[in-house]
Amino acid sequence: MPRPILATVHPAAVQHNLERARRAAPDARLWAVVKANAYGHGIERVLEGLRSADGIALLDLSEAERVRQLGWRGPILLLEGVFEPRDLELCSRLSLWHAVHCDAQIDWLAAHKTQAPHRVFLKMNSGMNRLGFTPERYRSAWARLNALPQVDEISFMTHFSDADGARGIAHQVQAFHRATEDLPGERCIANSAAILRHGGEAEVRLDWVRAGIVLYGSAPDYPERTAADWDLQPTMTLSSRLIAVQRLQAGDSVGYGSRFTADAPMTIGVVACGYADGYPRHCDTGTPVLVDGVRTRTVGRVSMDMITVDLTPVPAAGLGSEVTLWGRAGNGALLPIDEVARAAGTVGYELMCALAQRVPVAVQD
Ligand SMILES: *Cc1c(COP(=O)(O)O)cnc(C)c1O
Repeated sequence: MPRPILATVHPAAVQHNLERARRAAPDARLWAVVKANAYGHGIERVLEGLRSADGIALLDLSEAERVRQLGWRGPILLLEGVFEPRDLELCSRLSLWHAVHCDAQIDWLAAHKTQAPHRVFLKMNSGMNRLGFTPERYRSAWARLNALPQVDEISFMTHFSDADGARGIAHQVQAFHRATEDLPGERCIANSAAILRHGGEAEVRLDWVRAGIVLYGSAPDYPERTAADWDLQPTMTLSSRLIAVQRLQAGDSVGYGSRFTADAPMTIGVVACGYADGYPRHCDTGTPVLVDGVRTRTVGRVSMDMITVDLTPVPAAGLGSEVTLWGRAGNGALLPIDEVARAAGTVGYELMCALAQRVPVAVQD
């Protein structure tokens, strides 16, 4: 028997979440963001659930090739554009749309030989200071692009730094609209947090939205709002089983560094899941976990291949009992990935993306 750890991807939940994002931003076309191998889920496992998207957005050219090989004939957008001139050949061949965020990318386009002109998204740096042209330089970048025979339609995009937080997006929305006011083209600015929180505002949803984490059932603004608050369903379950049970006496400690000491007799379970599976080592005693669908907590330190859990609330649990690290238990109980991420001082995004290679993955609605 293989080691009992398993990740399960739920395409029907992806589809549900996509529909949820659409309802939040009515009438906007929707880019389904599948970068980082669909946030760790596997592009081939989620694509079925994304069939009703208007386009697929990603970063890696190899992922764009995979999406085409899987039969996706709609738009594909490279969110960071091309990384070197010859990438443009693949864009021409696979008809990829691409972001243009710097002068070098315009130079490369100007030197590119293509039959079919490219559709590009000109990126504005409206305050995040990673990629894009500042509002002052945006118009001249547009004029340069607009003069190129290699370029077909030019659309406009920017990215928010604080869509999930207190600072908000108003300053960036304003900078974007001011600088693009009289330019002809489609517009795309909203990420997941902006879709959920501001999708009802016409000046935010615009022509296209870019839905990422919302598709994968994690609340972008957790803990202010939970996945349940937003009606999002988990798209990934990480599960395993108990491979041992220990009876502790008062004063007994558990695991590396003896980080947990029992203050009374108790039973703990040993789970076949550790940081080498992608479970965060920063999760200390008290991280929520489900055993046979019953909520309990981890005790002691996460090790490479094992974690230990308190079986007090589940006295019937024993060797082979089901453990849900995040996602959906067999009895239907849910453990939001955001709660586990929080315990590790990180976000749901990171846990999904960090699922380890050694974990087998199943697909089940
Ligand atoms: C990753 C990414 C998104 C999606 O972000 P979420 O917070 O997951 O919705 C949108 N736009 C760009 C440019 C991105 O790189």
